Amino acid sequence: MRTSNKNNLTIAVDGYSSCGKSTFAKEIARKLNYKYIDSGAMYRAITLLCSKKNIISGEKINIKALELLLADTDIDFRFTETRNRHETFLNGKNVEDEIRTAGVSDYVSQVSEIGQVREKMVLIQRRYGKEGGIVMDGRDIGTVVFPDADLKIFMTANPEIRAERRYKELKGKGIDTDFEAVKKNIEKRDHIDSSRKISPLKKAADAIVLDNSNMTVPEQMEWFEELLIKLNYEN
Ligand code: C5P
Repeated sequence: MRTSNKNNLTIAVDGYSSCGKSTFAKEIARKLNYKYIDSGAMYRAITLLCSKKNIISGEKINIKALELLLADTDIDFRFTETRNRHETFLNGKNVEDEIRTAGVSDYVSQVSEIGQVREKMVLIQRRYGKEGGIVMDGRDIGTVVFPDADLKIFMTANPEIRAERRYKELKGKGIDTDFEAVKKNIEKRDHIDSSRKISPLKKAADAIVLDNSNMTVPEQMEWFEELLIKLNYEN
C-alpha cells in the first residue's frame, strides 16, 4: 500500500462546469511539482471520436458501435514543445483544439452518461494515479475515481460568473460564440452531470468547498496554501 506524504498526495478537484477547475488544478500541480490530469479532456476525446465515426445521431448514441470503438481506443497526455504544455492525444493524434469546440461541448455530457465509457476512463485515470503526486480534476474524482484521495476540493461559483468566464475564454481563443449559447450549454451539462445515474457530480462527504465566484487565481492559491498548512501538508 502507498503511504501518503506531501510529495505524493492524491488531490481530487471536482465541481461544476467552467468553475476554473483546470486553472486551479494546474496551479496546484505546478506548485507541488505534481502530475496534472484533465479528466474532462478524456470524455471530450471520446465524444469527438463518436462524432467522427457517426456514432451519435441527434440525441441517439449507437452503444454497440461505441463498445467496439472503446476497446480500440487509447487516450493519453503528451508534452507539446511548441505550446509548452501537455495536450490530449487520441489514438496517437493531438486533438487538444478539436475537443474544445462547441460541437463536442454539446454532446459530451450525453456520452459521459454511458457506463461503458466511464468504466474505460476510470481505468485509465486510476493508472495515472497509481504513484500519487497527482492533481486530477473532473466530476467524480473524489467520489469514484479516487475515493481515498488525500485531499478533495469541490469547486463552485455563481452560474452567471461561470458563463462569463467561459465566454471570455472562448473569445480569447478566437472561437466565435454567443453568451446565451455558452450559458445554456453550461446549464445543460450541469443538469445532466448532476442527475445521471452513474457517477453523478456531487460533493464527496469529505470534500472541502471552494466558492471562487469572487476570487482571483492568486487568491485561490493563497486559500490552498493555507489549507495545506491546516492539514499539516505544507512544504
Ligand atoms: O471538465 P470539462 O468541462 O471539460 O468536462 C466536460 C464534460 O465531461 C463534463 O460536462 C462531463 O459531462 C464530463 N466529465 C465527466 N466526468 C469527469 C470529467 C468530465 O462526466 N470526471
